[in-house]
Amino acid sequence: MAAPSYDIVTVGGGIAASALAIAMAGRGAKVLVLERERQFKDRVRGEAVVSWGAAEASELGVYGLLKEKCAHDVPYVEAGSGLRDLRETTLSRLPLLSFPHQVMQEILLAAAENAGAEVRRGVSVEGIECGAEPAVVVDRRSHERISARLVVAADGRGSPARKWAGFQVCAQGNDYYMAGVMLTNVRASTETIYAVFNPQLGTWTGLIPQAGGRFRAYFVYPKTIGYRLQGESMLGQFIRECAKGYAPLADYYAEAKSAGPLASFDVSDDWVEHPYRDGVALVGDAAATTDPTYGQGLSFALRAARVLRDELTNNSDWEAAGHRYAEQHQRSFHACHTVEGWMRTLFQDPSPQAAELRTKAMPRIAEDPRRVPDHIFSGPDLPLNEETRARLFGES
Ligand SMILES: Cc1cc2nc3c(=O)[nH]c(=O)nc-3n(C[C@H](O)[C@H](O)[C@H](O)COP(=O)(O)OP(=O)(O)OC[C@H]3O[C@@H](n4cnc5c(N)ncnc54)[C@H](O)[C@@H]3O)c2cc1C
Repeated sequence: MAAPSYDIVTVGGGIAASALAIAMAGRGAKVLVLERERQFKDRVRGEAVVSWGAAEASELGVYGLLKEKCAHDVPYVEAGSGLRDLRETTLSRLPLLSFPHQVMQEILLAAAENAGAEVRRGVSVEGIECGAEPAVVVDRRSHERISARLVVAADGRGSPARKWAGFQVCAQGNDYYMAGVMLTNVRASTETIYAVFNPQLGTWTGLIPQAGGRFRAYFVYPKTIGYRLQGESMLGQFIRECAKGYAPLADYYAEAKSAGPLASFDVSDDWVEHPYRDGVALVGDAAATTDPTYGQGLSFALRAARVLRDELTNNSDWEAAGHRYAEQHQRSFHACHTVEGWMRTLFQDPSPQAAELRTKAMPRIAEDPRRVPDHIFSGPDLPLNEETRARLFGES
């Protein structure tokens, strides 16, 4: 059998693929990144790396690069009950990092190239062949086949690549949409993210400051409302709905202007239980697309790149390394997924059953906010058991 052309070929060149490419090319691996877009544009995507993800960026050696080129430190969170300083209250003791998604993508992809990876833009992968010599198929008509020791599928939300590679995809419908838009002229602090649930309405409002006076605004609302907040003509309604969810936004947004598209998304989760098989590893959203209300996707993408890097570096048997990566991914994903489910019920669900749960839980949380498990900011390695759940719901 001829030696494969590359050690690693990635399908996609978003944060997951480029972080892995930087890490592995930097350690001498021959890496090819295939990215469909010739130039990235604002598609309304994740722009806030929570504290545990910032620590992963640091482990991967890209924290300084992001800070130097595009990222803005946000030390405080306001969830409706007073400011929290992430630098003092999270495991990593790091602030949140925010950046324009498409700028971050360009910077990391350029860094992958600088680290020695080959990057091909404007190339759409159309198939994956699994097995002892895995490969991607770039053009079905000419059947350009590129083999590697490891194919990494990093093609984002709704990943077709995981289906080409024969993975079983699990899905959980969540009954909400998330709308997002870039705003300027917002009268709010540039040091605080706002992340506020309104359980009476079943909504969540998010406001994330970036460098240069720009703010990413999000609004999550029940699907039963019956419409999608998207397109320039819905901007006024987006702003009114945000202010209904969290009253101070009426003032913050009084003179706001849009600086990008208003788009909305289904926030349902989908994931693969064991994101490695037969020479193919899934990373980022291809491995698990999580409800963006909780802002975990970028951090999971960075963790996937770091864990896969470590396993591939420490094991000459890449089949074994792939399985070890997948086991760790599954543990991390399930921890955050479980906590998100509890929080969705307790803080967002407008049903009478959830309101009943709140009557017991909320007074106790007001007395001791540490009853809320901090996996969202401190990460999936925190303990998680029945006691964690019972404390959140005020049962112990
Ligand atoms: C509205 C919204 C808000 C969010 N907010 C947050 C947040 O605040 N914090 C957070 O952590 N996460 C957030 N997320 C999630 C975050 O954006 C994703 O988890 C993250 O972008 C995943 O990175 P990725 O590299 O896996 O995929 P992507 O960023 O989607 O990158 C995939 C890349 O693959 C390329 N590609 C796709 N198919 C092919 C193909 N066939 N051939 C070649 N290239 C291909 C695409 O062009 C793209 O560049 C949000 C998501 C949404 C939708």
